[in-house]
Amino acid sequence: MKYPAAEILKQQIPLLDYVEGQDWKPVRRSARGRLMGLCPLHADRKPSFLLDPNKNLFYCYGCGRGGDVIRFAELYHGVAFGDAIALLRRWSGADSLLSDVIKFYQVQLHRHPEAVEYLAERGVRQPELVERMRIGYAPGRCLRAWLMSMGYALRDLQQAGVVTLEGVDTFAHRIVFPLHANLYGRSIGNACPHRFLPGGKGGLYHWERVRRYRRIVLVEGLFDWATLWQAGFHNVTCSMGTGLNATQLHQLCDGASRAVYLAFDSDHNGSGQRAARQLAQRLWTRQVEAFPVELPDGHDPNSFFVHGGGDAHQFQALLDRARA
Ligand SMILES: [Zn+2]
Repeated sequence: MKYPAAEILKQQIPLLDYVEGQDWKPVRRSARGRLMGLCPLHADRKPSFLLDPNKNLFYCYGCGRGGDVIRFAELYHGVAFGDAIALLRRWSGADSLLSDVIKFYQVQLHRHPEAVEYLAERGVRQPELVERMRIGYAPGRCLRAWLMSMGYALRDLQQAGVVTLEGVDTFAHRIVFPLHANLYGRSIGNACPHRFLPGGKGGLYHWERVRRYRRIVLVEGLFDWATLWQAGFHNVTCSMGTGLNATQLHQLCDGASRAVYLAFDSDHNGSGQRAARQLAQRLWTRQVEAFPVELPDGHDPNSFFVHGGGDAHQFQALLDRARA
């Protein structure tokens, strides 16, 4: 037993629960309780995904892949072993601290009109989008007391990075977006606009929902993601900055045939466009089609929709032009 934590996790999380938690539904039940359904790991037309709830194993006759719940999480989310373990821990509630933090911030959002107002200014208006992104608000000076009243030790809060070594809430006056293994906090004031908790930013945003698309739009900010999603573009993902980390690159270059449209900010100094061209070159060398999208000068995808750059139709025209 090389990874005791992994063995425990496998016993804690029934594969069927986890796969169903990702919206999978069996279409057929065979002898001995085995289930068949469409494979969630690739575009599947006839059910080729076999799941054995008793053995906690899966196998796909279409793509030839199989294994246990950790292998499934690796393939489904496009992440490495360690990240898959972290995801599963969080999913199973073993890592309940971060989810308690997220819930607390979600409640705070509705108690702070200045936060809702800021979201509206940035064009985030649909309640279902706020819900889908699990957007919250960190007022500051209240998370620590709340979590300690729930029984958490200060040391654990500091270790997770939600409270600083000085004992104060790490995030204050920030809109908070939960990521896979971290939180991103966007200041609603002027001080240091972007901030993550300690640790990496993780993979691409909502990658498991986006990866199936033949054409993908990549943006650098979560407000870009939000406004595009509201405008009906659901094939959008976000790298949280123009510099992609190894996980994110690996996800884009997972061997699937796809085209990536790089809709980075069109800064006046050209840095966003330069980053997009460099990334496009890198992707082409890895056999991934990539097209930098040219937004009107000074616009990012968020301001394009919020401040009169255009509508969904016009944004689609920009994507078409990028390819031409
Ligand atoms: Zn498959």
